[in-house]
Amino acid sequence: MHKTHLLIDNRDVATEDYLEVRDPGRHDDVVGLLAQATPAHVDQAVRAAHRAFAGWRRVPLAERQALLLQAADVLAAEGPKVAELMARESGMPVATNAAEASMAAAVIRDNAELAPEALRPLEVEDEASAVIVEKVPVGVVAGIVPWNAPIILTMRKLAPALVCGNTLVLKPAPSAALGLSALLARIAALFPPGVINVVHGGAEAGQALTTHPLVRKVSFTGGGAVARSIMKAAADTLKGVQFELGGNDPAIVLADADLDQAIPRIVGGAFRRAGQFCFAVKRIYVHTSLHDAFVERFCAEVDRFTVGHPLQAGVTLGPMNNEAQYRYVGQLAERARAAGAEVRVLGTRADPEGWSQGWYLQPMVVPDADPDSELVREEQFGPIVPIVRFDDVEQAVAWANDSELGLASSVWSRDEAAAVAVARRIEAGMTFINNAGTSRLGQRHSPFGGVKQSGIGRESSEVGLGEYVEYHAINVHK
Ligand code: NAD
Repeated sequence: MHKTHLLIDNRDVATEDYLEVRDPGRHDDVVGLLAQATPAHVDQAVRAAHRAFAGWRRVPLAERQALLLQAADVLAAEGPKVAELMARESGMPVATNAAEASMAAAVIRDNAELAPEALRPLEVEDEASAVIVEKVPVGVVAGIVPWNAPIILTMRKLAPALVCGNTLVLKPAPSAALGLSALLARIAALFPPGVINVVHGGAEAGQALTTHPLVRKVSFTGGGAVARSIMKAAADTLKGVQFELGGNDPAIVLADADLDQAIPRIVGGAFRRAGQFCFAVKRIYVHTSLHDAFVERFCAEVDRFTVGHPLQAGVTLGPMNNEAQYRYVGQLAERARAAGAEVRVLGTRADPEGWSQGWYLQPMVVPDADPDSELVREEQFGPIVPIVRFDDVEQAVAWANDSELGLASSVWSRDEAAAVAVARRIEAGMTFINNAGTSRLGQRHSPFGGVKQSGIGRESSEVGLGEYVEYHAINVHK
């Protein structure tokens, strides 16, 4: 049985309690046991990180960079080895997990390579004085991550935090901690003890971290409700917070969109990870002249998914990660139906007998959806997507912006300039033109995050590095 302990000072630390982690695709299968940290364990981890900070901040940048580049190599080599374990604990397809590890390795390299320029101090001088503005690390950073893409979301915190000279206490989500922790142990071993520590548990462990006086910053990826409680918890010790939260990302399909190109990309954007990712396409606005053709072709493409256990051959769409998400998405579909919407249930069940053994949902499409309906207005985070028709692009932009969320968005058109003009009017942290995600260049240079209640601050790029520094201004009077 796979057993994951806490990792403090590069040593396994056992706890009294272990959580049985069950396969979301086979309820009877216990995939592993996960240590559960008490507040005392969290304190031990934070103190280890605090001790290590004194030395790590003094390690020259070039050495920190070199260690991170080694970490990227370790992750690229080891990631594929835990892809099956991750599939069993989180429900995400094996190929998706392997690809995520290699993308996460690229995230580490990007941060290491961007750091020298981003961290260069300002040095100016005149007859009367000289000014030096140094970018110094913040201290112990708590990184709290969700279950849906655990490797990449962790590395987006780990890489910039460490290259800037901070130390870390990470808390993965209990339903996606086993594979990630195996990778983190290999990576942590490259660094001095205490630079990377990993604690496990739910809200109690999270709260112990976010209230600890020696934690200087909390970087959190997850849902808005938890973010609000973290902000309150962090207030007593005036910690900085950086939040990557949910989105209700609109795709606006203009009248001249190339449907041959757009449909497979939007389907991938809506249904990859069974819709469980923050910048998934969550509502589609289609020009009325294309609406009916779009719906038929979109549904035909979605119908090709085979839903089942990620280790079963031929499966392209796994289960929901957990019961709460399964019930929430199922109930959204039920309420949409009860309100009179047409909910098309598509795809094929890979194992009809085993269907009730996991948190399985078939992919669903709701054509001609009411723009004011719950399914359009709320983030679903699952395999159901509404399609809304529009006559006038002004209306589509107004609907897109009529939300408390503003993470990502996309515009689809053969006319790039027209699409960019629409993009500029969308209230979002990111807009993709003719795709539902970033290009490789975009991953390196786009600040990742959202406006309004989709987050505070950004990850990735030079901007993301800026989240992990304080400024120390030294003014020399002559
Ligand atoms: P969640 O907010 O329930 O949990 C995230 C993490 O917070 C977990 O590790 C959890 O154990 C921990 N946690 C729970 N209660 C806590 C508390 N009181 N104090 C401190 N930590 C606590 O989120 P989830 O269900 O795992 O993920 C789904 C949400 O995350 C969605 O809304 C999704 O859009 C969002 N998300 C955002 C991004 C992004 O980059 N913007 C990426 C992925 C997911």
